[in-house]
Amino acid sequence: MSEARILDGKAFAARLCARIARQVGALQQSRGLKPGLAAVRVGDNPASEIYVRNKTKQACEAGMNSWQHRLPAEASQDQLLDLIRRLNEDRQVHGILVQLPLPGGIDAGAAIDAVDPAKDVDGFHVINAGRLVTRGPGGPSGVMVPGTPLGCLMLIKDHLDKLEGLEALVLGRSNIVGKPMAHLLLAEHCTVTIAHSRTRDLAAMCRRADILVAAVGRAELVRGDWIKPGATVIDVGINRIEGADGKTRLVGDVAFAEAVEVAGAITPVPGGVGPMTIACLLQNTVTACCRQAGIPVPEA
Ligand code: NAD
Repeated sequence: MSEARILDGKAFAARLCARIARQVGALQQSRGLKPGLAAVRVGDNPASEIYVRNKTKQACEAGMNSWQHRLPAEASQDQLLDLIRRLNEDRQVHGILVQLPLPGGIDAGAAIDAVDPAKDVDGFHVINAGRLVTRGPGGPSGVMVPGTPLGCLMLIKDHLDKLEGLEALVLGRSNIVGKPMAHLLLAEHCTVTIAHSRTRDLAAMCRRADILVAAVGRAELVRGDWIKPGATVIDVGINRIEGADGKTRLVGDVAFAEAVEVAGAITPVPGGVGPMTIACLLQNTVTACCRQAGIPVPEA
């Protein structure tokens, strides 16, 4: 069997960002509107710092306004909620993201609930999660879909013309990846199974899947012989491991070198899902801006 097609998320995301930049330009020219993204960070988690920096930098590069708000690790829940309320009221801010994880003393659920659902560009608010489940991702429901599963779906659709009737397995049941991913695939008429840490015989489950999305956070958990020949494999996991040379490197939840021999298409780590997450966040910000202004998203 020939090697899998590599689904190049980096190149796909670059094209998406270029289109977003054109949309931002069009909004500014025709309406004097500039989409704005506010990122909120609490404490000094180094990974969060990098994520937020990348998101705000790419928002700027697309021509948007973007702001970073940082509260100290010892900030109170009320301070965070006050900041979110101010951002909800700020008409220049169309999208708000609260970078997770939050420090121990702060209730992440309360912070997510405080974000205006119309500005919830991460799609984590219960209103958006509920809309996705009950009404699906499209149409006039005004749902915001989380960027990571949205980006995964774009890569899947880039490879497969028709998803209807395919067996899809989502490995992982988190609110930010696994669950919304399963609902997106369901809306595409796949037959969806969600597997998780208590699932029995994961390998057998995986072998049935035409589409396999791994969002677990366990380095190279999915082996080559777990994959159905020709399957589309999306690897969301980001795991840092130490190699024999003592240097660390990033790997996904799928053993790439094995899987690439069996799958029909596969995303690499890095350079697969990661860049898509940020591009979809920016797309959500443009969508949020247009919805708040009561206008359609420019074609661009
Ligand atoms: P999470 O820890 O919230 O959820 C992990 C899920 O995996 C849980 O539902 C758990 O039941 C399941 N799980 C754990 N161990 C398992 C096992 N041995 N077998 C089967 N299932 C198991 O994680 P998350 O936030 O959904 O993220 C998952 C991974 O995706 C992480 O590596 C994270 O860094 C990565 N991630 C990447 C991006 C991106 O942009 N590429 C975005 C979000 C998350």
